[in-house]
Amino acid sequence: MPQSASPAKFIFVTGGVTSSLGKGIISASLAKLLQARGYRVTIQKLDPYINVDPGTLNPYEHGECFVTDDGAETDLDLGHYERFLNIPTSQANNVTTGKIYQTVINREREGAYLGKTVQVIPHITDEIKRRIKLLGDTGQFDIIITEIGGTVGDIESLPYIESVRQLIWEIGSSNSAVIHLTLLPYLSTTGELKTKPTQHSVKTLLEYGIQPDVLVCRTEKPMSNDLRRKIALFCNVNINAVIESIDASTIYEVPLLMLKEQLDKVIINKLKLALKHEPDMAAWKDFLGKLKNPVYEVKIGLIGKYIELKDAYKSIVEAFIHAGVSNECRVKLEWIHSEKIDPENIRHQLGNLNAILVAPGFGERGIEGKIAAIRFARENKIPFLGICLGMQCAVVEFARNVLHMKDAHSTEMRPETAFPVIDMMEEQKKITNKGGTMRLGEYPCSVTKGTKAYQAYGKSKIGERHRHRYEFNNSYLKQFEEAGMIASGINPDSGLVEIVEIKSHPWFVGVQFHPEYKSTVLNPHPLFVRFVKASLEKASGQLIAEQAHTAKA
Ligand code: GLN
Repeated sequence: MPQSASPAKFIFVTGGVTSSLGKGIISASLAKLLQARGYRVTIQKLDPYINVDPGTLNPYEHGECFVTDDGAETDLDLGHYERFLNIPTSQANNVTTGKIYQTVINREREGAYLGKTVQVIPHITDEIKRRIKLLGDTGQFDIIITEIGGTVGDIESLPYIESVRQLIWEIGSSNSAVIHLTLLPYLSTTGELKTKPTQHSVKTLLEYGIQPDVLVCRTEKPMSNDLRRKIALFCNVNINAVIESIDASTIYEVPLLMLKEQLDKVIINKLKLALKHEPDMAAWKDFLGKLKNPVYEVKIGLIGKYIELKDAYKSIVEAFIHAGVSNECRVKLEWIHSEKIDPENIRHQLGNLNAILVAPGFGERGIEGKIAAIRFARENKIPFLGICLGMQCAVVEFARNVLHMKDAHSTEMRPETAFPVIDMMEEQKKITNKGGTMRLGEYPCSVTKGTKAYQAYGKSKIGERHRHRYEFNNSYLKQFEEAGMIASGINPDSGLVEIVEIKSHPWFVGVQFHPEYKSTVLNPHPLFVRFVKASLEKASGQLIAEQAHTAKA
């Protein structure tokens, strides 16, 4: 059997029985444990859909689109990888069938296949294997975890499963491991966990020539030893490689549950890796302890138009968890649909919030509700954070209600507005393709000293990730600054406004970039941390005021 040229070891994670079992969280948890043992680990996701990337997908379809430093629009699982591992991912960490076919078809058009018939095997599978090995070839990692999207048996994931089979043959069994994630349904009528779906899905994998090394079993009840033995026997794996993955109260508990089940040790043995040291999970445990035992609580309104699907705002939700922990505070999010905001009734709708966040988004739907909420936050001195479209709405609101620019708008919503305070960048105007054509990825930003942004970051040179086409229109900047909305962050190369804030407000900040993409367990994002702190101050201020009020009465 040929041996691998790449020194990296490969772990493949497949899913059986149903989708949504949490392959991403299991992959990220295992990666965390291996990293905590001193290995250099990264995770890659292979998505079997034909879109080239999720950038053009409606958030209702696919949840949030996560953006990497190098400007890839990716699956939201990459967000989990970064939040757990605290290292950035890149273009190479998310591969789709669309990307694979696009590469192969482009090569065919260039004549690179020298007249051969181009086929799924070997051309598509070769391209899949090349993409899997790419991260290993960088020499930056000891272990690559590759998560195969979808469920084993799906027609569209067949080429991926075949590529994994071939790769295992090529790199050898001690350089590879397969983890199969399955579900043990609980039948309340008989009070039993059932193993048959797991047996069937392992059988499907075997039909494709893959014997899993580890079974991670999602279950709502603890597994008995007898059950573990039964699964091990029928699925041909070691009994200690049958891992229980019981429902957890938070995803951040899963690494510790996997540690208890010794998933990391089983994998290290399979890959014949030297046991370096016990995992150092002290900081993680500290985080989890604080997450479970908050001292304070705040209520923050998250205003968006996709709130029926919470996954559409995944990174924002997680960033609040991280920032909450660093303030020893539970952030209770109140999900508010921007279309349901009624300016006549706004005090009733938003008056009990300690802070307001207006979320990113595209298109006109719900825009006036967002603007009304921002006006309420500005006028009532409620801490406010606007992200991307949220910042653009804050600019529009200020233009209309402070600068008296009647009907000011973003040209995204109203191209003919008399006051285009948010406008499309010149270079964007020529672009007609939708996919991958926004201002994407990390750009530098200079933060002005003495501002709220500077107070949060504690430094002037920062880099943040972007995903948008429209920008603050600099021809209005002077008027805004004179009226009290300043640009506290500027792109040093282009002069584009990246952060705005209102000087006279306790905490009113709008950012053109997406800070939520950079928040991790070990590095909560400074803007979210300060925002939660401001809402905590608002909450306690309110409390004192309320007490005084009651005392008087
Ligand atoms: N629709 C806005 C733009 O393209 C904002 C995008 C966003 O919120 N990510 O500029």
